[in-house]
Amino acid sequence: MDKIIIAIDGRSSCGKSTLAKGLAARLGYTYIDSGAMYRAVTLYFLRHHIGLDDEEQARQALDNINIRFNAENRTILNGEDVEGEIRRMEVSNYVSQVSAIPAVRRAMVRQQQAMGRNKGIVMDGRDIGTVVFPDAELKIFLTAAPEKRAQRRFEELKSKGITTSLEEVRQNLNHRDHIDSTREDSPLRKAADAIEIDNTHMNRAEQLKYALELALSAGAVVE
Ligand code: C5P
Repeated sequence: MDKIIIAIDGRSSCGKSTLAKGLAARLGYTYIDSGAMYRAVTLYFLRHHIGLDDEEQARQALDNINIRFNAENRTILNGEDVEGEIRRMEVSNYVSQVSAIPAVRRAMVRQQQAMGRNKGIVMDGRDIGTVVFPDAELKIFLTAAPEKRAQRRFEELKSKGITTSLEEVRQNLNHRDHIDSTREDSPLRKAADAIEIDNTHMNRAEQLKYALELALSAGAVVE
C-alpha cells in the first residue's frame, strides 16, 4: 500500500500541529513537529550561551545536539525530555533567531528528510513544502486571522499552566512571523502547489474532514 508525504506550513499558531496530529492519527502515519526540533536547538543554545550571531560556534554546538521523539511524541534532547521546557516563552522569544541561522537549518532539514524516507509522514513547519519535501504528494498552507491565532495560543499556554498575557502572546507571534517570513534562508512562504486552508471559521472536525479528503485524493489510504 502506497504511503504519501503530507507537508503542512503556515504562520505561528494557526493550528498546524492540531491538523497534522489529526491526519497522522487517521492515516496511521508518523507526525513530526519540525518546530519542536528548532525549539530544542534553541533551548540548547540558551543553556550553553551559544552566540546567535556566531555561525561557527553554532556549527560546533550542533555536533553535540541529538534530537529525537519518543513513542509519546515528546521531544528528547540529548536523552532528556524537554517537551515542557521548549514551549516556554523564553524559548519562543529566541527560536526564530536561532532558526534563521543557515547551519541550524541545514542540520534540521537533513534529519527531517531522513525521517520522511519511507513516507507515511505528516510534518508541519514553515519550509516543509518548499524546502524539506518539495515533492510531497500533499501540501497544505494553513492560515487564520491574527487575533484568532493569538487567542488560541493564549488559551493553549494557559491550559499548560504557562503564565503569560494575551498581549505578550500577540507580540511574540508578530515577532516570529516577521523573522520567519523575511529571513534569507528558507523564508516562510506558500509553495506554488500548496492548497491554502483558512481555518478562522472552521472547527477542528471540519478542518480535519476537509484535509482528509485532500489526503485521500492525493493517494493516501485510511487504515
Ligand atoms: O511550529 P512552532 O511555532 O513551534 O515553531 C517555532 C519556530 O521554529 C518558528 O517560529 C520558526 O522560527 C521555527 N521553524 C522553522 N522552520 C520550521 C519549523 C519551525 O524555522 N520548519
